[in-house]
Amino acid sequence: MGRRKRRAPRQVRRPRRSSFFRCPRCMHNSVTVEIDRKGKVALIACFNCGLKDTVPVYGGDETEDVYARFYDRYAGE
Ligand SMILES: [Zn+2]
Repeated sequence: MGRRKRRAPRQVRRPRRSSFFRCPRCMHNSVTVEIDRKGKVALIACFNCGLKDTVPVYGGDETEDVYARFYDRYAGE
């Protein structure tokens, strides 16, 4: 009976998935998105210029979706 070598599933990190986004105000890559699933809001904060905002979160939203909504709202003002 040959022993099968178990292959450990490797955790592949998605490349180029930065946790920082571009700030629509200061244009720095310094915006963080923190999703609060319980409160169904996301906290947006730029540590460069201090811009802060909250955005509603819908089921299945990823940080990218939340950020896009925030950016659109900010840019559309
Ligand atoms: Zn900023």
